[in-house]
Amino acid sequence: NKKRNSRKDSIPTVAFDDIGGQERAKKELMEALDFLIFHDQIVTYGIRPIKGILLSGPPGTGKTLMAKAAAHYTNSVFVSSSGSEFVEMYVGVGAQRIRDLFRDARTLARKKRKTSAIIFIDEIDVIGGKREGSQHREYDQTLNQLLTEMDGIISNQDIRILVIAATNRKDMLDAALLRPGRFDRHITVDLPDKKARLQILNLHTRNKPLCPDVDLEQVASETFGFSGAQLESLTNEAAIYAMREKQEQIQQKHLSLAIDKIMMGEKTDREATQ
Ligand code: ATP
Repeated sequence: NKKRNSRKDSIPTVAFDDIGGQERAKKELMEALDFLIFHDQIVTYGIRPIKGILLSGPPGTGKTLMAKAAAHYTNSVFVSSSGSEFVEMYVGVGAQRIRDLFRDARTLARKKRKTSAIIFIDEIDVIGGKREGSQHREYDQTLNQLLTEMDGIISNQDIRILVIAATNRKDMLDAALLRPGRFDRHITVDLPDKKARLQILNLHTRNKPLCPDVDLEQVASETFGFSGAQLESLTNEAAIYAMREKQEQIQQKHLSLAIDKIMMGEKTDREATQ
């Protein structure tokens, strides 16, 4: 049961303000989350609850952060899992894990005296990918169990459940997952533009000793195509360069070296896969 225990179940402290850029995605997500917050009105009007939200976009753009911020915003417990954890040899194990996930979410919410839980499933495409032939029976059972659990979410349960799934291959998903009442809200998360890159750099240098003449705007200009995760990594690398040189503050040259390092890293990754 190692995998289950490794899951980080919690009440996240990440807020929407800790996410740089992504203004449109944040707004769309918050609008959807209001359905969870203003649950009583939703019921009065006979509106069906939102059960699933799909976040799609390139790796490292903050999808996990958004799901955590969603839990923070709605005062929900957060239970997460990843499609890759369902890659199992034995038939039935995946379906059981899905059942556990929903059960654990409800149990944790009760324990923490919360009325809602957000279940986050990263890499949903691993369990919810389109089927080719009959070699994926185990995944079918896992997917069916997920759909069953989602269909079983009803508005008058004591713990409200919202499932947020993330993928960077939305086109690969099985249509059954995207039907109304399942993952019927889709939010696209994009690579950050220059303004967003600057915001992300500011966020990740908040607690670092930055030399006052560092020009983060320059760094933002030079990092076209970087994801939020790469920008976070850049600020970390720059701090390491500064520490190695026994400098008290991070200087522009450390940031430039870090940009090069990350670009080179990307290049070697690409070369390795070619
Ligand atoms: P993946 O698709 O690889 O799972 P993801 O889209 O879920 O990635 P996260 O795990 O949320 O990305 O991001 C990884 C890390 O990158 C975060 O913990 C954070 O440090 C940083 N990061 C990514 N996007 C942002 C952002 N918009 N603002 C601030 N930090 C960000």
